[in-house]
Amino acid sequence: MKFTKSTVFAVLPALVAAHGIDNLHARHVQARQAPPGTLVVAASSSSSVAAAPSSPAASPPAGSPASAPPGSPPGASTSAPAGGSTPLPSFTLLATNPTAVPLSAINSLQPSSATIPLPSTAVVGSTPTFLTNAPPLPNAALLNPTNYPKLDVPPPIDSPEVQQWIAEVQATGVEIPNLNPTNPGGCPNNTAAAADQTRCWWTCGGCTRSTDVTECPTALDWGLTYDDGPSFYTPNLLQFLDQNNLKSTFFVVGSRAISFPATLQEEYMGQHQIAVHTWSHPPLTTLSNEEIIAELGWTKKVIKDVTGVTPNMMRPPYGDIDDRVRAISLAMGLTPVMWTRISPLATFDTDDFDIHGGLTTVQQVLQNWENILGNVTTMTNGFIVLEHDLFEQTVEVATGYILPDALAHKPPFNIRPVVNCLNRDLSDAYIETNNNSTNPPVFSAAVSAGALTTTSAPAGATGSSGSGSGSKSAGVSLHTSSWVSLFGLVFGGALATHL
Ligand SMILES: [Zn+2]
Repeated sequence: MKFTKSTVFAVLPALVAAHGIDNLHARHVQARQAPPGTLVVAASSSSSVAAAPSSPAASPPAGSPASAPPGSPPGASTSAPAGGSTPLPSFTLLATNPTAVPLSAINSLQPSSATIPLPSTAVVGSTPTFLTNAPPLPNAALLNPTNYPKLDVPPPIDSPEVQQWIAEVQATGVEIPNLNPTNPGGCPNNTAAAADQTRCWWTCGGCTRSTDVTECPTALDWGLTYDDGPSFYTPNLLQFLDQNNLKSTFFVVGSRAISFPATLQEEYMGQHQIAVHTWSHPPLTTLSNEEIIAELGWTKKVIKDVTGVTPNMMRPPYGDIDDRVRAISLAMGLTPVMWTRISPLATFDTDDFDIHGGLTTVQQVLQNWENILGNVTTMTNGFIVLEHDLFEQTVEVATGYILPDALAHKPPFNIRPVVNCLNRDLSDAYIETNNNSTNPPVFSAAVSAGALTTTSAPAGATGSSGSGSGSKSAGVSLHTSSWVSLFGLVFGGALATHL
């Protein structure tokens, strides 16, 4: 079944509104030095846009749903203060795309630009040669949306499919922390949960666990990621990536996979990594255990139905994850992948999503990008940045400016999918093609590492039974203390204060 443009975009406003107050993260303000020969792009080249820099942290957009996503961590400061003292963004790019859309034309009011046809590398029935033991590519034309939940709303939990996935999670014996779902509205509406460091709620303080992927281990490696697609403009991004021999990780919204199955197949057959980003894009900590399972389960299923393989990585929308969401994700065979956050003032989020809604400017996004670059060249490890392929503005800033600038960087970045920056093969990104001997399945690995506790160890895992030191409910526990110690080993002392 084909979806018309109007059909698909009719569901987007809810997602846009839900993202509206997403990017409240404070940013680093250190700008990098411009080397000789640099192409300088000043904000004044688009003064009509730059004259009104946004302050996205100031207030949620009109019409934000009651289930607005989490807010900023208590006490965090921002580099974009409200009021009239905010300096105009200025940035320096080493290179731009000669065919880039002018900065002055990238804004919330721009008319929809032309999309390009998909390449035709995805041939039904062909077997991917770049993966080990991959099944033939399914026929996406046979995908029947009536066999899936309603798009862009949390799926019901009483379906046979969800009931089966709930049973499968229970069968793992994983002990899920007995944490109440958070209230909509993020940290300000969840004072106790935000202050509860044992919850390890990323949204309110940036806490991560050893099982979260937050960076690439090798300096100058960039784990390239795009979220919220596929969309009408994903082919434009794919074309640029192909022309520059770049591969990315795509965190796919299940509802968008229903809308654009052929685009998802092109991503997959183009040797990009496909990963899970939920069915309807809610802040997961606000959901019940069963609702979380439904969100992740349906997204896993539609990706498998379209590509033939099931991802083993996920990204929580808004980065909204705590130990309860982590345990469920790991039990479902999904490793959480965040974006790099090196301090409350340096979260590697370009904020590209907010151009479309008029909450920020393309100039501010490029300033954010420059700030990120100012950090990565001094880091001893690689990095992961939050970007999106949902809107034309996000694709235009990526293909016209951010990626050309990154490609011109000296020393060069090694830009690749997250799975590759973790020094694993692309085959290890999918449950069906993963090499279980060299890359243990996600849940077993988490149990073996002591990051999860089970009431009965799953096959192949060596986790101890019932020895968790974390909170318990009906068969539920996380090895909080061991995660803390692992976290400290990996990240050192700087971030450990946020645990
Ligand atoms: Zn998202």
